[in-house]
Amino acid sequence: MTESILEVKGLKTYFHTRAGVVKAVDGIDFTLGKGKTLGIVGESGSGKSVSMMSILGLLPQPPAKIEGGTVFFEGQDLLTLNREQLRTLRGRKIGMIFQDPMTSLNPYLKVSTQLMEALTEHDRSTSKKSAYERALWTLEQVGIPDPKQRIEQYPHQFSGGMRQRVMIAMTLMMAPEIIIADEPTTALDVTIQAQILDILRNLQVKRGLSMILITHDLGVVAGMSDDVLVMYAGRPVEQGTVEEIFYRPHHPYTSALLRSIPSVLREDQELYSIRGLPPDPARLPPGCPFAPRCERAMPICTQAPPIRRLSLTHTSVCHLEVSPP
Ligand code: SF4
Repeated sequence: MTESILEVKGLKTYFHTRAGVVKAVDGIDFTLGKGKTLGIVGESGSGKSVSMMSILGLLPQPPAKIEGGTVFFEGQDLLTLNREQLRTLRGRKIGMIFQDPMTSLNPYLKVSTQLMEALTEHDRSTSKKSAYERALWTLEQVGIPDPKQRIEQYPHQFSGGMRQRVMIAMTLMMAPEIIIADEPTTALDVTIQAQILDILRNLQVKRGLSMILITHDLGVVAGMSDDVLVMYAGRPVEQGTVEEIFYRPHHPYTSALLRSIPSVLREDQELYSIRGLPPDPARLPPGCPFAPRCERAMPICTQAPPIRRLSLTHTSVCHLEVSPP
């Protein structure tokens, strides 16, 4: 069994707004194995990014409030750390690649300055010379051609894919043990997406990194992940290995997501889409939040669904019986 590096249990993050309490994350559990990739999937608003930002203490409190749960990393519950302790840990131990490289880089600062800052802000004893050398090295690692010239340029002189490589390089400056990549390829075209995913995969193998990959793209999950967590309306609905989720899905939401993937083999068929829209998180229906959109909903679905264990690694939160193997 793989050693775990991060264990999240019962994490709850609520936003207290004038319109009411928004349960953005409502009790998620997952374990990230050392050197493994966990894919977190779900539609926009399912709580994927909020859960990661809660773990790293990046949400403004208020309006956000962590209402419960534990997040264990190296024997410490991250939810009990103060701001300074979290600041020390962010970047150095757990790095995050944000989804929009256009807005995440400072347009007024050279790439060299931004990369060096990522290191010197966390470790003031680092000399300018060694920070510069490391910045050059990380640019090489992420495949930026002619890094000696590029490092002196500004973000607007880079293409979208190159900017995303700079974002990855920035995360690597501190050599973290875990990388959280939040929709790292969403803003990129398909060929550049493939290049960025290749870079992440290679870095993971070379450095034994553990990774959490947040995405709504099941194709990306299939190619990158060892384990998958499917989220809906702030809750986990199904978890398992990538094979279990793709070949033996149990939850109707997971099945519907899989049916929504376009396929050249079904080119004569109309593209399937899940009916309706994700619910307003401030007004969730009673029982199963997926019920208004579920093709298999039953009268009992107005009650909270149970957690069904399908294997040691596979669970689904649904009233549907588990068929015998
Ligand atoms: Fe559908 Fe009911 Fe399962 Fe919810 S609990 S996914 S409504 S079958």
